[in-house]
Amino acid sequence: MAEILTGAPVAEAIIQSLIPRVERLKSAGVTPRLAMIRLGEVGSQLAYQHSAQRVLKRIGAEAECFALPDSTSQAELLALVEEINRRGDIQGCMILRPLPSSIDEQAVCAALAPEKDVDGITPTALGAVFTGAGSGYPPCTAQACIALLDHYGIDLAGEHVAVIGRSLVVGRPLSMLLQARDATVTLCHSRSRDLPGLCQAADILIAAAGSAGLIGREHLSPGQTVIDVGINAVRGRICGDVRFDEAEPIVRRLSPVPGGVGAVTTAVLAKHLIDAAEKALSG
Ligand code: NAP
Repeated sequence: MAEILTGAPVAEAIIQSLIPRVERLKSAGVTPRLAMIRLGEVGSQLAYQHSAQRVLKRIGAEAECFALPDSTSQAELLALVEEINRRGDIQGCMILRPLPSSIDEQAVCAALAPEKDVDGITPTALGAVFTGAGSGYPPCTAQACIALLDHYGIDLAGEHVAVIGRSLVVGRPLSMLLQARDATVTLCHSRSRDLPGLCQAADILIAAAGSAGLIGREHLSPGQTVIDVGINAVRGRICGDVRFDEAEPIVRRLSPVPGGVGAVTTAVLAKHLIDAAEKALSG
C-alpha cells in the first residue's frame, strides 16, 4: 500500500507561512494584489481562478479579475497587459491559458513586465529557470511538484526522475528545477520509444502528459514515488494520468488526482505574489 502524498498539507504550510508576511506588507501600506486575465468561460480556467481567489483571500491579499470575451483582439489584450504593467497597486499578473487561437500567446506572455510574472511565462523568467541565473519565478505547477517532494522529505540528489511531458508550462521547466537539485532527469514525450521501460527504470515518476490513465502497472516498479500532475475530465469527473488503483498496490508513494499537486499550485502562485510584493516594496 502506497503512502498517499496529498497536496492539502503542503498548500496549508505555504499559506500559513504567507499570512504574517502579508500582515507586514499591509503595515507598510501595501496590500498585495494579483491581476488575473481570463478570456472566455473555459470551465478549468474558472476553477483555477476561483481556487486562486480563495487562497489569496485566506492570506489577506486581493485578486482583480479581468474577464474578457473570447472575441477580444490581440491589440486590446496587449493594451490591458500594458495597463497592468503600469499600475503600482498590482504586483503580480496571471494570464489564464490557453488563450483563444486568434491570439498570439507568446507575444502576450512576452509583453508582461518580468517583475510581475508570477507564473513563469515571460522569456526572462524561463531564462532564469533554464540558466539557473537571473531573477524570475518558475511556472507555478513545476514549482508545486518540487514543493510537494520537499514537504514529504523526498531527497532528489542522485535520484533518477522520469518526467512525462515536455511543455513549457510543466515538463521542461520541471526538468530544469529537478536537475538544479542534482536529480538525473529523463524527459519523456509522445515520441519517446519504450515509455513503460523508461518509467519503470526511474526512482521518481512525474506524469504531466494530460492523457487520462496513461500510466499503469506496466510503467511502475516497487519502491517508486509517483507524482500525478495530469488533470483530465472524463465523463464529468476529474482524473489524472495515473491509474490510481493499479499504482497504489505497487509503488512506495503516490500523489493522487484530485487532491495532489493541483492544490499546491495556487499556494505557490500566492507565494510568488508575496515575493514580488516584497521585492517591489524594497525597490
Ligand atoms: P501539453 O502542453 O498538452 O503537453 C503535454 C505533454 O505530454 C507533451 O509534451 C506531450 O508530448 C506529452 N504527451 C502527451 N501524450 C503523451 C503520451 N501518450 N506519451 C508520452 N507523452 C505524452 O500539456 P501541459 O500544459 O504540459 O499539461 C499537462 C497536464 O498537466 C494536463 O493534464 C494539464 O491539465 C495538467 N496541469 C495541471 C496543473 C496543476 O495545477 N495541477 C497545471 C497545469 C497543467 P509531445 O511534446 O510529443 O506532444
